[in-house]
Amino acid sequence: MNFNNLNQLYRSVIMDHYKNPRNKGVVENGSMTIEMNNPTCGDEIQLTLNVESGIVKDVKFQGQGCSISMASASMMTEAIMNESVERALEMANEFSNMMLGEDYNITDDMGDVEALQGVNQFPARIKCATLTWKALEKGFKESDK
Ligand code: ZN
Repeated sequence: MNFNNLNQLYRSVIMDHYKNPRNKGVVENGSMTIEMNNPTCGDEIQLTLNVESGIVKDVKFQGQGCSISMASASMMTEAIMNESVERALEMANEFSNMMLGEDYNITDDMGDVEALQGVNQFPARIKCATLTWKALEKGFKESDK
């Protein structure tokens, strides 16, 4: 794909997260582990979280894949850290809206997440960007049972 169509500032933010991932690793004694793949691109991600009293006390990711999938995971961990599960799910919903080209509301507390907005011009890469958020939603749903 040709990233030249992406806004230059956004592209540099994405590459910064890819090269210097935030919260990479595994949360020791975490309360939740989720693994998810995106076979169309070969992206693999594992999230570990420590959720206490409905608050994301810690979250880390590890895995391998393209720059979009890894940068998105890095951005997501920053966005949801110390947020409530409810708020994290709202963020996941707004991210999904952004990727679908619908009206969305990415607020300042979501950090760099909006840098991925331009990815919605590349339908084949949308799954790369949403992988980490889909994994998060899956984890919260399963822990809700
Ligand atoms: Zn990918």
